[in-house]
Amino acid sequence: MSFEKLNLIEPISRALKAEGYTKPTPIQEQAIPFLLERHDLLGTAQTGTGKTAAFAIPILQLLHQDELYVKGAQGIKALILTPTRELAIQIGDSFKAYGKFLKLSHTVIFGGVAQHSQTQALRAGVDILIATPGRLLDLMNQRYVKLDQLKMLVLDEADRMLDMGFIHDVKKIIAKVPVKRQTIFFSATMPNEITSLANSILTHPKRVEVAPVSSTAATIQQFVYFVSKNDKRKLLRHLLDDKAIRSVLVFTRTKHGADRVVKDLAKTGVKAEAIHGNKSQNQRQRALGNFKSGHTRVMVATDIAARGIDIDDLSHVINFELPNVPETYVHRIGRTGRAGASGVSISFCDGEEEKEYLQDIQQLIGKNIPAVTDHPFALTVSNNRPEMKNPRVPSEQRKPKQNRFKTKKPQAAAQQPKQHQANQNTAKKPVQHNPKSHTPKKSPAPKGNEGMSWGSERWENNY
Ligand code: AMP
Repeated sequence: MSFEKLNLIEPISRALKAEGYTKPTPIQEQAIPFLLERHDLLGTAQTGTGKTAAFAIPILQLLHQDELYVKGAQGIKALILTPTRELAIQIGDSFKAYGKFLKLSHTVIFGGVAQHSQTQALRAGVDILIATPGRLLDLMNQRYVKLDQLKMLVLDEADRMLDMGFIHDVKKIIAKVPVKRQTIFFSATMPNEITSLANSILTHPKRVEVAPVSSTAATIQQFVYFVSKNDKRKLLRHLLDDKAIRSVLVFTRTKHGADRVVKDLAKTGVKAEAIHGNKSQNQRQRALGNFKSGHTRVMVATDIAARGIDIDDLSHVINFELPNVPETYVHRIGRTGRAGASGVSISFCDGEEEKEYLQDIQQLIGKNIPAVTDHPFALTVSNNRPEMKNPRVPSEQRKPKQNRFKTKKPQAAAQQPKQHQANQNTAKKPVQHNPKSHTPKKSPAPKGNEGMSWGSERWENNY
């Protein structure tokens, strides 16, 4: 389907062309017609599917048409609530891009920075407001924001807002907007609390859905490396020698962990930057800017900080630590292989508690992740406990020298094929560490029904 079929107004079509968009993504194809007919919408889609444009384009078009035909009162006409500053900024950038030939104004507000410039922008008057819930409520309480003229409300990444504890703020904000409005609700997952929130704020919504959270893009090559906790930083350093890793987002579970990885890399001469909640807004924006422009090759992030980060050209994701929530894995690796491009995901698994996380992940995504066993820090993982490939025997347990040659080959080496027990089903042959195998290929051929690429009829499995 082409954008022409969506009946978009000329200034928007022109802006999309300028962005280089040739055809709508599936979520856009499904959502835009409903929204232009002023229906409420319940969408299950994640960042990376093109969902921002799916709501931004109809909002711009409808507000523009309303402006032409109905001289309405001044005031905020569309509000987009989103969980993080990064997402808010990116959504603001999207409105700027798609609305560049229109006269509608927008502004972005979020916490963690001084409010002055935000209140100034609000005073000047805006049509579209993009906000994180905490700062918005704060400014509403200070009477800088009035929502009595609101016609369109978007809840973006509702499940994340729940996760981050914003749901009460969100409910307080919704209580202050006109009941008669068009409401758009996007969430990557639909836990019960989210479903009941959606039910309470949507009126006869149309449902659109792309790629359930459990699916990973067929265009992302996934590997697991079994490695002890202590060797992870050495393995990371070793992998970074591979020039095929052009830009890599490294995930850690904690902020402290992210800082430690950056420090350890710095000691070996690799410049990396961390992005997490303890960094100031400016530091985060600077780090993100450096990464996007290619100045920094390695960015280390925690999950919340990285959610929604939109980087077009990310070649690799490395899970320095596996997440204990399997859906988080799907979100993480979806940072690469975006918009149908290919990418590589490498996960370090310590063979202890992370082995269970790996099993949960494999169950969720419905496939086994091949293990790369040919690397200098390989750990042998048995069903019950991990063993080092070349275990160091404590000196007091070593056999007397004369007997050493009589002992059998080390167990672990003899058991090579069992090395990645968790992956026995698929990884029949051990996967060799071949830098080339980590080079994203430009246009991988989708196999079977595993998923289709951007240009295909179904643009699914982006996650
Ligand atoms: P989103 O899911 O909104 O974060 O969008 C993911 C990425 O896809 C962003 O970089 C968008 O600029 C890009 N994108 C959105 N719609 C299209 C389209 N129709 N064609 C090409 N790229 C798009």
